[in-house]
Amino acid sequence: MATMTGWTGKILRVNLSTGSVSIMDTAKYTDFIGGMGFAHKIIFDEVPAGTKAFDPANMVVFAVGPITGAGALCSGRTNITTLSPMNPYSAVADSHFGGYWGSELKYAGYDALIVEGKAESPVWLRIEDDKVKIESARQIWGKGTFDTQAAVAGIMGKEAQVACIGPAGENLMLSSTIRTGNDHHAGGHGAVLGYKNLKAIGIKGTGAVHIAGTPAEWNKIIRENFAVIGSNNNHVVPNSPQPWAEFVDKTTRWNGAKGRFWGAAVPPVETGVCDPHDINSVGFRCLKSLLDLGPLAEKYTVRMGGCASCPIRCHSQLKIPALEKYGYSPYVASTCIGFFGPGSIMLKGAADVAEKGDGALMARALGAQIENDLGIWCNYGQFGADWDYAYSSGTLKKVLPADEYKEIRFDLLEAKDIAFLKDFYERLAYRKGEFCHLGDGSAAVAKRWNFGDDYYKNARYILWNKDMGYPRHHSSESDGQVGALINLIKNRDANNHSHQNFLFSGLPVSKLKEVAAELWGSPDAVDAPLNYTPINKAKIKFAKWSLIKYALHDSMTLCNWVWPMTVSPLKERNYRGNLGARGTVLTASRPARRKTRQPSTSTPSASSSSTAP
Ligand code: SF4
Repeated sequence: MATMTGWTGKILRVNLSTGSVSIMDTAKYTDFIGGMGFAHKIIFDEVPAGTKAFDPANMVVFAVGPITGAGALCSGRTNITTLSPMNPYSAVADSHFGGYWGSELKYAGYDALIVEGKAESPVWLRIEDDKVKIESARQIWGKGTFDTQAAVAGIMGKEAQVACIGPAGENLMLSSTIRTGNDHHAGGHGAVLGYKNLKAIGIKGTGAVHIAGTPAEWNKIIRENFAVIGSNNNHVVPNSPQPWAEFVDKTTRWNGAKGRFWGAAVPPVETGVCDPHDINSVGFRCLKSLLDLGPLAEKYTVRMGGCASCPIRCHSQLKIPALEKYGYSPYVASTCIGFFGPGSIMLKGAADVAEKGDGALMARALGAQIENDLGIWCNYGQFGADWDYAYSSGTLKKVLPADEYKEIRFDLLEAKDIAFLKDFYERLAYRKGEFCHLGDGSAAVAKRWNFGDDYYKNARYILWNKDMGYPRHHSSESDGQVGALINLIKNRDANNHSHQNFLFSGLPVSKLKEVAAELWGSPDAVDAPLNYTPINKAKIKFAKWSLIKYALHDSMTLCNWVWPMTVSPLKERNYRGNLGARGTVLTASRPARRKTRQPSTSTPSASSSSTAP
């Protein structure tokens, strides 16, 4: 294998049918950058055309980027690619999770993990540097993701990073997740691991990621990126007046401010003014719990969490004692749609639980906790929309056997009692009755239950692609033709934030138009909100740029919730960001400009074990 920087030089390959463990040379794939690029090339080359998602020939590729684990900003994401069971054609699709699993994969000595075949009985993968074992999962099969991670970490040690599926994935609920950490989940691919009888992947590594530059050069690059970063979604304008700020936009995710606290920290921590010149306060800029759960969440917020190498910390970590009443831990964590989606099935709203006005907060927190534990994905919120239609239109009553319909706790739903969430999600995860098909994804359930035209035509149900069954994701509703173009070119929802981050950065439209003229040749690439002008070349360039940047980020496994840093919070830079930053980071990590260690070429020791956890 060639000497490499950034890369470890090895791709780990595990065949669950044969129990074989082997190594491939990363060098063969480096033209494809990493992450998504690696995975698509491998699947294109190796998975026969016509293979279905549930087929031993389908592969799951977990892949990271050349800088993952090296400390570049927001580089802790992992790209997971496989043939999607939610897609009616089993088309290839990517999902992603953050956390620390991807960095640990590098520290264990691998740039990617390929899982192929299908185990005869439930197993989990134990990866400790060169030692790779396929272990029996007899005693963790059936457990929720919290207990599964605890069990695997109990065996491997608390430094291990664990990715796993919950009962939803085991029972082949199509809309299920692969989860790592408290709250990082890759949507839509859990059932492929369930089909392969693979419950969990634990990783522990003792290696390091070697880069080409000196530590001083690398440090300089990281600091330069730090200097232009904004808040979550790279929002660069605060949402309340700040002494340093020229602009204010109350819709941005820069909501840290004087008088706003991580209220459940001991002692409480004030997020404060967060001057953009103070890089030590970047982690206080985004008090996401308030944005996702409302103002009452402030007193429950312990801190903000997130992914390896990310100073933004967009994942809210809360302690909500009232969750124990429903049999769950009071500690809950998630972000954005991970809160909105699960709670949205309370169609009549949610009654207060512990204090006046806390119903919506409790529904979101309990819904997130249940979905996280069962390993369910909300299909970027489409799940709640499908449920809304099925229930409100009377379709559910028609398609469910009368006895099954009677069993469902609609009384709780009508009474706005969030105990309904448990009954609802367990029916899906454990594949109970006809009801469970709600978890098959929109295309499948709409066909099976014969949803009417009113479902497809009603914007309330947000379905973007009728044939593929996925929802809009920052499409025409937020970005006119640019968003529409971006949403067309995906096999799942277009989880693309390149355009969204720029447009909703908080800067005035006049400033955005200046940047648009520099980047896409005309200020008319950008319209004033909800004041759309006809399509033009600059808009098409903007859409193309956004798609390319998205592919680049998923290949470098940079977080598209921050990158590209098209704009910055700095007036002295006239709010320009640093689009060259990715190239600088990538270049610094890659060339063998100086001698680095040879990656180990030893073949991992492989064994199957019946030792149950
Ligand atoms: S912005 Fe959020 S999702 Fe992205 S890397 Fe940071 S913590 Fe993770």
